[in-house]
Parts: sequence; structure tokens; C-alpha cells
Amino acid sequence: MTPLEALKRYFGYDSFRPGQAEIVDAILAGRDALAIMPTGAGKSICYQVPALLLPGITLVISPLISLMQDQVKALNAAGIRAAYINSSLSESQISRALNLAAEGSYKIIYVAPERLESGAFRSFAAAADISMVTVDEAHCISQWGQDFRPSYLKILDFVDSLPERPILSAFTATATREVRDDIICTLRLHDPELLVTGFDRPNLYFQVEQTHRKDDFVLQYLRDHPGESGIIYCATRKNVDKLQALLADYGFAATKYHAGLAAETRKKNQNDFIYDKAPLIVATNAFGMGIDKSNVRFVLHYNMPQSMENYYQEAGRAGRDGLPSQCVLLFSAQDVVINKFLLDRKDFSDSDDEDAELLRQRDLQRLQTMERYCKTTACLRNYILEYFGEHPAAPCGNCGSCNNVYEQADLTAAAKWMINCVAETRGRFGKAIVFGTLQGANRARLKEIGATNYKSYGQLKDLPRDVLDRLLAQLLEDGYLVQTDDQYAVLRMGDITPLKQPGAQVLVKLPPRQEPERVQRPKKRSVMDALTKAGLELYQQLRTLRFEIAQREGLPPYVVFGDKSLADMCLHAPATVEGMIGIYGMGERKYEKYADQFFAVIDAYRADHPDAVLSLDAPDPKPAPETPAKTAKPGSKATKAAFCLTEERAAAFAYQDALSPAEMKEALAAVAAPDMKAPTIKDMEGWLLDERLIAMEKLPTKGFYYVPTPAGVDAGLRSEDRVSARGTPYSVLQFTPPAQKLIVEHYIKK
Ligand code: ADP
Ligand code: ZN
Repeated sequence: MTPLEALKRYFGYDSFRPGQAEIVDAILAGRDALAIMPTGAGKSICYQVPALLLPGITLVISPLISLMQDQVKALNAAGIRAAYINSSLSESQISRALNLAAEGSYKIIYVAPERLESGAFRSFAAAADISMVTVDEAHCISQWGQDFRPSYLKILDFVDSLPERPILSAFTATATREVRDDIICTLRLHDPELLVTGFDRPNLYFQVEQTHRKDDFVLQYLRDHPGESGIIYCATRKNVDKLQALLADYGFAATKYHAGLAAETRKKNQNDFIYDKAPLIVATNAFGMGIDKSNVRFVLHYNMPQSMENYYQEAGRAGRDGLPSQCVLLFSAQDVVINKFLLDRKDFSDSDDEDAELLRQRDLQRLQTMERYCKTTACLRNYILEYFGEHPAAPCGNCGSCNNVYEQADLTAAAKWMINCVAETRGRFGKAIVFGTLQGANRARLKEIGATNYKSYGQLKDLPRDVLDRLLAQLLEDGYLVQTDDQYAVLRMGDITPLKQPGAQVLVKLPPRQEPERVQRPKKRSVMDALTKAGLELYQQLRTLRFEIAQREGLPPYVVFGDKSLADMCLHAPATVEGMIGIYGMGERKYEKYADQFFAVIDAYRADHPDAVLSLDAPDPKPAPETPAKTAKPGSKATKAAFCLTEERAAAFAYQDALSPAEMKEALAAVAAPDMKAPTIKDMEGWLLDERLIAMEKLPTKGFYYVPTPAGVDAGLRSEDRVSARGTPYSVLQFTPPAQKLIVEHYIKK
């Protein structure tokens, strides 16, 4: 079996991702390897595929118990014999596992670093055939890194104790130069294949939203992304509690996680999230280590995190399956205050004064980097990549900044009027009155309170409402004005001394007046975008089935199939169960175990909705692969004659007012001889195209549909308008009786 065959057979993937093949090849050639790849790049495959092909056992040393358990479940689900040994097992369970391991029952064994010292484990290892030792989260071995784990130093001793030195491979997502050198040195890697893949995660969309109405934003965001799984990070436990309660009030299935909850509750909540019982989790940064849920579609940050390292790690938990996912950071001036407060409370008592001061400085710098990220109008992705030492050539075209071209406007004069107006209201009113006054609105309420006599009355009547909004946001941001937290949101004076300095300006980011002249790069499309409303409906049914199976088998749903696999099923809606073989992520084991259950749902859906168009990309169902002749039974599809009709059979055709292509196909099939291949929509449409009775109409996405030409209309073809779930209009052909007759006659054998 080649590595590529193993990848297809066990994991159902067609090709290696960048970097994976190099590492796999190096390992199989007997070399040590160190790979530094960002979260979600696919590190596991790099050692799991070689593990399958090497003669003996692969030991994977991993610090995170929950991660181990998930990985082993996923491997078992893929038909790979794997086990884990860590402190979650009892002594007797461990000795049972070791006995099985000694008998050669497992190809891959995950083990916690502490175990490497135990006598039982050592004697097992001394007798076993160990081909490779893989060190996951290898940065934990470096005292330079943030996550140094002393137990990792035991790895060396363990490897030395083995009768024969196995191949060593090490993996990590975060490694500076020092840490990298440290890993090579401390693990004594022999001339390792070194792979550093870029930090870019092209499927992640970055966005910063400057807003004071974070709750509204989150609620609206969740309404816009129904059923999707997401993480919402908050800076404090209090925020977590408040936001989770709010979401629950609004009926969203959100759970929560922070260090203030009992260990048991934390564990339960985390599992509810992983198992999709609660697709949303509101959490502090205590959450996420060792979570490799692949179908997290978005990570929202309710507050600004303390550093870019933290942000990229947390945001990076979105889209591990490679599907487009969003990372949105909600920012308000308040965030800087909260973070400074948290830093002030940080305990440096372990360090001496000088060190403590240095550390404090470094933390402040990190915070400032984060603040600049929140305020930049330049490409957000590039900002991140540059921070991590990369030099991207051009703006990415796929982030909040790139999709939003700003103009910096100097609104200092207008700002002064707005501040004046708030002064004139003596801090008694909110935005509605202030804006109304500035715009010179003719409202009874303004007369009543005397605002029509203010100096500021009507002074900004030329500024559009959205500009006023942005100006106000900026003044709040700069602290010149403040807004009360209560329901009245009253505007008051802040500290305006800086504005009195000579040359002080109020600069406001405004969207451009006219469309900017720039090339709009296509957004990265998701498979989901190609699904029609019907397609999404089927997708939901498949999700339900996935959930049921996951419940039954005690697996996280994404271990059964990832979102991308389900979307692919809807996209191709195979006509036979064999057609499921080509689906993304469908390895052999999953095909055997699950294909028929998922196929049954697809088949039932199609029977109930015969003319449903599931995807805009593939109006025709993917043809099932031809059954190989050697297994074809007599009379099965492969040996049947192409579809045609005799005069008598054609006479029995049931003409109706209007038939969709699928109904047309059914009506033809109803009068076909039994030893005949069924007619196909593709064949029908192909002929109509040749006759120029229909023409292809392109969609803004890469799909298309057919419309009748004028000649087609004369021949009785019509089209029925539809709208996809994404709001794209398309149409479906309709055959009136003359067009039905045309088709029937076309199939009569001459
Ligand atoms: P990492 O450990 O680097 O964070 P994982 O190993 O968890 O990433 O992989 C992330 C996701 O990408 C997983 O769902 C994995 O199955 C998927 N994946 C890995 N390699 C491939 C590949 N060659 N083709 C398609 N999907 C892949
Ligand atoms: Zn960009």
C-alpha cells in the first residue's frame, strides 16, 4: 500500500496537503522529522499514515488526555487499531491495554509523558517492536516556550532505554527559532527532515467589528448562522456567564466554560459542545486546549484578547476541516480598559523585580499589538502573518479590511459640534435627541426640551446619518464622550483635554463614496454555497442522522463525518450506494459502516422530491461509477441496452400538463421495457442542447442551469423560476405536452 492509498483507504482523502507528503516520505525512508504546522494544517495525518505503513508500533506522546481520547476514537472509527494509555484509565485497564499491545493488537498507541517512566510500560516497550516515537506538541519540551512540561524531558531517557532506536518525529504548531532548535537538540533528532509550513490559514476570514452593541451583534450573527457550531470567547468569567444566559434566553443552544465552574460541569459542557448537543460555547481562554473539533464554523471574540499569540491560537480553532470559517473580533474602547485591569492584577511574585518589570512591559507591548490590529484599516491577515515573521506580498482580498475600503476623513469640526451639543443637553439625553438636534430636525420633542434653541441645532444637517454614527463611535472610542451602560444610553461629556491641544484631530474611518476601483477577488467559496434550499434541507437531514449515529456509538459527530463530507453528499447526491465511494472523507471503513444509512436518507429525499435541484453546481446527479463487468450480475445495469422506445410503448406514454426533467424521466421509465437502461436527464438535456432547444445559463457561482431557446419555447419548453437558499435566482425546465411528444419521438427506435 502506498501512502496515498492509505490516505484514501483509511481517511477518505484524495490528496496530501502541502507538506504532508514530504514528512510522510521522510519518515518512511527512516529519517527523523520535525514539522511546524499551524493548527488545522493536518499534523496527525503526517504520523498516522506512516504509522500504518511501518512494520511495528508507533507510540504517540501527547500531553492532552482529551485529545488522545478523541484521536483514538477517530482512528478506531476509520478502522485503525489504536489505544491510549494515560491517567484516565485504572491500573487494571492499563495492564489489560499493555497486554493487548504486547500481543500486537495496536498499530498506534497514545501515551502520556508521565507513563514513560512506569515499570510496566518500560517492560512492555523493551519487548515490543516499536518503529516510531512521535512527540506531539513538541514545543512542551522547550524551556523557552510558554508551555514547558518537565515530564517531556523523560522522553529522551525513554528512547534511550529502548533496545533499538526508533524513528523520532516531532510536531508542533508554535515554535520560534529558539524553541525549534531546542526541540531538535533536546530530543536529539538525527538530521531531521524539517518542515515549516506557513502560518496562513486561507480558509479563515478575519474581521474586526468596532461596536458598543456587542450583544446585539452576537445575537444577529447567530441568527445569520443558524445551526452552525461556534466558540465565543470572553475576557472574564462574568462576561461568559452573562452572555451565555442571554443566548439561552434567546433560545440558542449555548453552553459555557471557565475556570470558575466545577471540574465536572466543565467536562460535561465541553462534551456537550464537542458532541454537538450544544453547538455553541461561550468561554474564557481556559477553553480550547486539546479541542480538535473540526467543524467549528466561527470563533467570535466578545473581547479583545491579550496578545496576537492568544488570538491566533483561539481564532485558529475555527475551520480545522478546511472549510471557510469566520473569526470575528468585537472591539470597543472598554476592551483596552479590561485588559489593562487584568494585566495589573497579574501575579509576578515568582519573578524578581527587574524581571517582573520586563514581563509587564512585554505584556503591555503585546496588548498594544492587539489594539493596533483592532484599529488597522490594512489587510488583517497580513497584519497577523507579519507579526509571526512572514512577508506576504499583497493584501489577501479575503478579510474584513480588504473587503471594506475605508477613507480617513478629518471630522474635527463636526466632532466639536457633536461634543458641544452633548454639553448643551447637559448630559441628559441619548443619541436620538443629539442627532436630531445636530440635523435640525423638526420634531415636537426637540422644541419641548428647548433643543431648537441650542447653538448646535442644525449645524450638521449636511452629514448623513451613518457618518454621524461613525463619528459618535469614534468620540466614544477616543473617550471624548461617554455613554451610560443602562437602557437609556445617555451621552455625557468625557475627557476632552486632548482635543484642546493644538493640531488635535478627529479622524474617522468612512466607507468610500463610490465603488473603489479595484479588482474584487472572488471570495473563497464553500461547498455549502453551492447547495440550493433543497440541498440544505437534505443537509439538515444528514446532520440529524449523523447526530443519531454519534449518540449511539458515543462518538463526536465530526468523527462520523465532517461537515464537508455531508455537504459533498448533497452536492453529488449519488444515485446508487456505490456512488458514495467518491465522497470526501469516505474511507473504506466508513463506507462499510455508514454509506448505506446516509444513502438511504438521500434516496428517500429524492423519492419525496423528485424534481428537487440540490446544488447549483451539479444539476445532474453524479453518475454512479459503472459497476465493473466481473461483478455485474446478468440483467444488471451494466449489461442493459441503451434506453429507447418502440411505437407501442411510446403510445402508452402518459402526457401531462407540465413535467419537470425528473418527472419526464420517470414518465419515460414507466413505459420502458424491463431489459432497458433507464433514461437519464443528462441524456435528454444533451440532446436538447444539440438541437439548440435549450441553452446553458451561468450562475454567479460556478454552476449553471438550462433555459429554453426561442426555438425551444416554440417546441413547448418552459422554465419555472426558483431561488436558491443563498438568494440566487435560477430556473428549472418544464416540458409541456408538445415538448413531451418531441422527447418521446426522439427515443422511438427507428
Ligand atoms: P492539526 O493537528 O494540524 O491541528 P489535524 O491533524 O487535526 O490538524 O487536521 C485538521 C483537519 O484536517 C482534520 O479534520 C483532518 O482530518 C483534516 N485533514 C488532514 N489532512 C487532510 C488531507 N490531506 N485532506 C483532507 N483533509 C485533511
Ligand atoms: Zn486582507
